[in-house]
Amino acid sequence: MNRRLILNLLRREGPRSRADIATVIGLSPAAVTFVVADLLEEGIVTEGKAVPGPAGRRPIPVEINYEHSLAVGFKLMVDSVECVATDLATNPVAAMRVGLEGHDPDYVADLLAGTVPELVKLAGRPKAKLAGIGISMPGVINHEQTACVRSHRFKWDNVPLASLVASRVHVPVWLEDDTNAYAIAQQLFGLGRQHRNMAVLAVGVGISCALVIDGKLYRGANGAAGKFGHTLFEENGRLCECGKRGCLMAYHSELSMLRRWRETTGRDELGLPELREALSSGDATATTLVAESGRGIGTALANLVNITDPEVVVAGGEAVSLGDPFLNPLREALSARTFRAAPPLLPDWEDNSWARGAAALVTQKIFDFESSGGVTDIARLGVRGSAA
Ligand SMILES: [Zn+2]
Repeated sequence: MNRRLILNLLRREGPRSRADIATVIGLSPAAVTFVVADLLEEGIVTEGKAVPGPAGRRPIPVEINYEHSLAVGFKLMVDSVECVATDLATNPVAAMRVGLEGHDPDYVADLLAGTVPELVKLAGRPKAKLAGIGISMPGVINHEQTACVRSHRFKWDNVPLASLVASRVHVPVWLEDDTNAYAIAQQLFGLGRQHRNMAVLAVGVGISCALVIDGKLYRGANGAAGKFGHTLFEENGRLCECGKRGCLMAYHSELSMLRRWRETTGRDELGLPELREALSSGDATATTLVAESGRGIGTALANLVNITDPEVVVAGGEAVSLGDPFLNPLREALSARTFRAAPPLLPDWEDNSWARGAAALVTQKIFDFESSGGVTDIARLGVRGSAA
């Protein structure tokens, strides 16, 4: 417990002296020194340079050694895998993409296992050990984070992918729904670091919305929470990948936006880069279509916000790269339908974000950040206002 409190403080606020740690967490200096000595020996923390303190003291700051180990993250997509090796703060040090030619579980496990040595070599950190592998994919994942219970896109039922990979690579492996993994990365090192309650909207091939409630990712009774894209948009409407009709994502996911754009223009070759270009050149068809999707998602999101009351909504996924023509109508629709003032919608998307999310699964487990996040660990102990 003390170990987790100390690591979380250092993660959120950066280097701190032992004396500071003791004050903020409310532990005795001796207890802090004892735990820090253990962490130093394991190499998970290091000592920085002494800085001048009050009364001529020069306390030595302690910080997390994020280069201690490597984490590998895989984001499974239908026809390819985004792969990264990161440090323990999910900063990528190597990245690649490999094609996926089928969805047979053993084939997928072989492919992932075979990619690991390549990634580690590419990372170029011979002294860092491989701490583990995180895999993210669209689907329902069991609570143990070992098996995919159901994935429509992969047509999988109860596939123990984490075990299949672990038996080949011999390091710990965790599996998680892709939006949940992205939310964990946001919670640990991204925009969610200072928030106990947030929604993490992802608009890519599908649409989902992970929920962090009181500092914990909410997974639901069956690991199926946050399947926001399958809420109803239009009764008896377009067919969704889940087999039902009229789901939100059948209209407004990035993939569905592109599909509707191709239908309207009759040009099958159009993709996301072309859509971005059309928007920036003021193309009326593209602008109308993207705004319609923004509004559709914003209105649905307002329902979710009215139920869960998040402090912020972090938005990720490929569609976020469409920028204001997508996000402004989304924000307006959200505002128009929320009971209270709408929470800020903060876009945060860059290359490798999905795979970095997968790598965050490793960090979360190593540092035992399971039930942490936000500043309230400290606030609960009666110390406020110290967060950056
Ligand atoms: Zn659906």
